[in-house]
Amino acid sequence: MKCVRSKQLYKEALKYFPGGVNSPVRAFGAVGGTPLFIKKGLGAVIQDEDGNKYVDQVMSWGALILGHANPVVVKAVSDAVRNGSSFGAPTSSETELARIIGQAIPSMERMRFVSSGTEATMSAIRLSRGFTGRNKIIKFAGCYHGHCDSLLVKAGSGAATQGIPGSAGVSAVISGDTLVCPYNDLAYFRRLIARFAKDLACVIIEPVAANMGVVLPREDFMHEVRNLTAKHGILLIFDEVISGFRFHFGGVQTLQNIRPDLTCLGKIIGGGLPIGAYGGRKDILARVAPLGDVYQAGTLSGNPLAVAAGLAVLNTLKKSDYTILDQRTLELCQGLTEQFKHNKTPVVINRAGSLFTIFFTARPVTDFASACQADPDRYARFFWTMLRQGINLPPSQFEAQFLSFSHTSRNIDQILTSAGKLGK
Ligand SMILES: *Cc1c(COP(=O)(O)O)cnc(C)c1O
Repeated sequence: MKCVRSKQLYKEALKYFPGGVNSPVRAFGAVGGTPLFIKKGLGAVIQDEDGNKYVDQVMSWGALILGHANPVVVKAVSDAVRNGSSFGAPTSSETELARIIGQAIPSMERMRFVSSGTEATMSAIRLSRGFTGRNKIIKFAGCYHGHCDSLLVKAGSGAATQGIPGSAGVSAVISGDTLVCPYNDLAYFRRLIARFAKDLACVIIEPVAANMGVVLPREDFMHEVRNLTAKHGILLIFDEVISGFRFHFGGVQTLQNIRPDLTCLGKIIGGGLPIGAYGGRKDILARVAPLGDVYQAGTLSGNPLAVAAGLAVLNTLKKSDYTILDQRTLELCQGLTEQFKHNKTPVVINRAGSLFTIFFTARPVTDFASACQADPDRYARFFWTMLRQGINLPPSQFEAQFLSFSHTSRNIDQILTSAGKLGK
């Protein structure tokens, strides 16, 4: 694998961007080496600046469920841009996209489009505080909800302690209103509720966690969270930025049979263009300006290009058979399990539909603490072994791998053949 041009371009980028990148995980910090500069992508395959090709399992962190440069999306965006790229005024296609989302996720009775997942969660939290008149929130350790201050919080030690800032620049005053609970730990959650219920505006959670690697909720966990929050007038926010339209045509909330008060979306609903959305109960959304007193706005919100891409993706997904995608990912994960067993490498593969993580550990991964027992050095070796053979994995043990409808059974074979060479 020759990476001469990528290395040159990286050196040049370092002169302008902190770490040479515009989002941290791209810098390969967790796996070592220097990042590839990508020139183009088509379907499941990307090509770097040196002409190397890779089967992509990052897929823009899940946004590209139809693959790179999907012709339907390319046409929709090209057609849209010819009519102007932004007006700062309402357009009919925003309403069309909202209608499709609202039908697929009925709990989103009203919604608002923004330009990123971060904006969606940040706005949903502000709305929860405005609506309830309370300040505290609960998030779960290992869940990621974007980079807004109140959500960049680490768990303090011991039960029911206040969150400490997870980033420099986040004031202790802000992080102090964020309580952190271990994922899947109902007893801990009950204790937090018992102690802080009156002050809690909302609980925000990834209903399938995908940002500490994939971690599935235990049976009944989400129902208990719903019951307890409802009982105390605490709003439940489902962050479905990854899970929305990932497992079926709608939110994972429908599969789990749970109705959250608010839902956040992003990634897939923009087909690779910047978009986010938050929405939910109409009495709550009635508090958003201009109807209500919770302010939230955006120059490019509901951007015509992003909306056109989103419409193209959702209209295609509506006619797509998710069981094919599910089956293909299952085959891949079963194949990988066998390869690792053959090589005597202990791994745990957590999978939900076309989303999965290979944890280099022998013990089950059910929360952030157990995810952290996975061996990041082993993952880094796996990452580089795969990359040299033309398979692009996420450059961190704690990120999910994504398959798309554009991954063929040939791609699956390529991935399995490459993984088979590990340890030989
Ligand atoms: C990616 C992600 C976000 C943040 O979205 P951005 O568009 O990167 O701001 C929020 N929540 C979850 C669950 C995500 O996976």
